[in-house]
Amino acid sequence: TEQIRIGIAGHGNLGRGVEAAVARNPDMRLAGIYTRRPPESLVPRDPATPVHAMDGLATHGDRIDVLILCGGSKEDLPRQGPELAALFNTVDSFDTHARIPEYFAAVDAPARAARRTALVSAGWDPGLFSINRVIGEALLPDGATYTFWGDGLSQGHSDAVRKVPGVAGAVQYTRPVKEAVDRVRSGTRPTLSTREKHRRECFVVLEDGADPDQVRHAIVTMPHYFDAYDTTVKFVTAEELARDHHAMVHGGFVIRSGNTSDDNTQVIEYGLRLDSNPEFTSSVLVAYARAVHRLNAAGRYGAITVFDVAPGLLSPKSAAELRAEQL
Ligand code: NDP
Repeated sequence: TEQIRIGIAGHGNLGRGVEAAVARNPDMRLAGIYTRRPPESLVPRDPATPVHAMDGLATHGDRIDVLILCGGSKEDLPRQGPELAALFNTVDSFDTHARIPEYFAAVDAPARAARRTALVSAGWDPGLFSINRVIGEALLPDGATYTFWGDGLSQGHSDAVRKVPGVAGAVQYTRPVKEAVDRVRSGTRPTLSTREKHRRECFVVLEDGADPDQVRHAIVTMPHYFDAYDTTVKFVTAEELARDHHAMVHGGFVIRSGNTSDDNTQVIEYGLRLDSNPEFTSSVLVAYARAVHRLNAAGRYGAITVFDVAPGLLSPKSAAELRAEQL
């Protein structure tokens, strides 16, 4: 059978992760990488992979089966998603949770008109965690769902700390509070405040002459980002920051606990421990690209989400193979 031809739009962390993931899926090959920067400035994992200017996509419709959109959710996807869904089958990881309905609608119309399939908001959260929240709720209607994140490096919170005057460099880790996790796992359905569920830990390099107490105060009182949490700030050297805090670790778990009768409590848990958040996210996007390829061939046009994709479509194996091996 023919390999699925994958294109990458945007070559940041996710774009590089997609390169790695396609290399591990023999039923796919990488058709090309597309970037807004000068193509010759990028270094692909495999030097044989062609790198093109993003504009080239307009005329490369016949070279790519599924285009994986690896732009940022804030600035890039709101523009690129609708534009590219008119030209290609697409998969993206749009993760601004509150804006997903609006983004879905903006992608749906052009995809439908062009008879393309556009899977929006895949990844792990939104994505795999969302699926587990839906399944938990459906199976245990009398229950409660909890999502914990971490231990993990949060890009958004790290950026916020870096903007504090006196900070030369920083990373921020989100950590679940163990007591809260234990209570949830026991099935008692506790009501937990933001502060009780997660704590935040910052590793900060100070600028010369900056006052550590002032910097600490500015961080822990920052509205939205830190004021509702218990936050610790640790000062490190630039060397320590570079050596110990460069890995993009992340993960978390979704727990649903509920009662099927007055006597019986049931607990469902799904967890991830990730050395590399972007590489894992990219692996998810690549598996969904396979499903999108099949769904488009079957005439399912327009925008879809992970809720619309049957699990068997993610697998390179046929339905018959899956029935024999996995049931
Ligand atoms: P990056 O910032 O690494 O890349 C985003 C875009 O920025 C790239 O597509 C690239 O576009 C451009 N870019 C990358 N490096 C540079 C550079 N050095 N100079 C200038 N431009 C650059 O973002 P990530 O790949 O880490 O993440 C992308 C999105 O994925 C995030 O915004 C997040 O919302 C989402 N995400 C979703 C998850 C989920 O579970 N659903 C999990 C993790 C992330 P170009 O090549 O065109 O210049």
